[in-house]
Amino acid sequence: MPHTLLLAEPRGYCAGVVRAIDVLDRVLASEPAPVYAFHEIVHNRHVVDGFRQRGAVFVDSLSEVPEGSRIVFSAHGVSPEVVEEARRRHLRVVDATCPLVTKVHKETKKAAQDGFEILLIGHRGHDEVVGTLGEAPERTTIVDNASEVDALPIGGKSVFVVTQTTLSVDDTAEVIDAIRGRYPAAEVRNDICYATTNRQEAVRAIAQRADLVIVVGSENSSNSVRLREVAAGTGTPSYRVDGIEDIDPAWYEGAGVVGLTAGASVPDELLEPIIEDLRRRGVTRVEPVVVATETVEFRPPAGLDA
Ligand code: SF4
Repeated sequence: MPHTLLLAEPRGYCAGVVRAIDVLDRVLASEPAPVYAFHEIVHNRHVVDGFRQRGAVFVDSLSEVPEGSRIVFSAHGVSPEVVEEARRRHLRVVDATCPLVTKVHKETKKAAQDGFEILLIGHRGHDEVVGTLGEAPERTTIVDNASEVDALPIGGKSVFVVTQTTLSVDDTAEVIDAIRGRYPAAEVRNDICYATTNRQEAVRAIAQRADLVIVVGSENSSNSVRLREVAAGTGTPSYRVDGIEDIDPAWYEGAGVVGLTAGASVPDELLEPIIEDLRRRGVTRVEPVVVATETVEFRPPAGLDA
């Protein structure tokens, strides 16, 4: 049974998620419900359910939002088409898009203006990818994995590469290699963010020493899903759970060293019951495994007081 717990550091909330949660929190505290949010504010079931109970209404289409209402855009960003529709419907927008996602939007828009064909490495249908694609839909092609590169319908044109921020560092390097193989002059921006990179390094470090890894994060959280994949890639059995309720105690059989981490949208309080439970099961040593120290903070967006 478990005797040692390795805690990945960094884990959990990143600066973009802290900012987005703070924005919705402040809007809910200052305005009567309902307050609308376009898409889930961050991809975590517990966080979203908590906001729902306080009067937030999450919508996937602005047509569901009455004219003139307050709306918060999520951390994942939105396409210019959504911004324009919000303007037409006189919605009072607070944009909680992570500044690191905004940076990718700007790169994409500029590359399109400069005449590039854009390859967007990312997962089709993910909120962030949908938003970035919207900057230049007629010039952008999504590339999900390296096997798609050979069949890309782009000839010898100037190619500019951007990425989703929450991808697997290793898989993305493979896709970029394949793109460089086909388009040697491609201009490449690897936009995987600091938080994604650090959390993947940290989970790899614990997985290499653990008999079992548990990743806390929701199934629609790209970075959480990637963390489980990175851990499993070391050969260590790895599971993603939304919280302690999803853990099967049978996983702990024969596992002396357990590794624990959480995706960038996961509050640390979801880990506390798991840690307490492990102590009850015999864990006497809790060891933080630190691969990086994060000091990134983002200022609140404009429009909070409008
Ligand atoms: Fe921003 Fe990265 Fe956090 Fe996404 S994971 S919100 S890009 S800091």
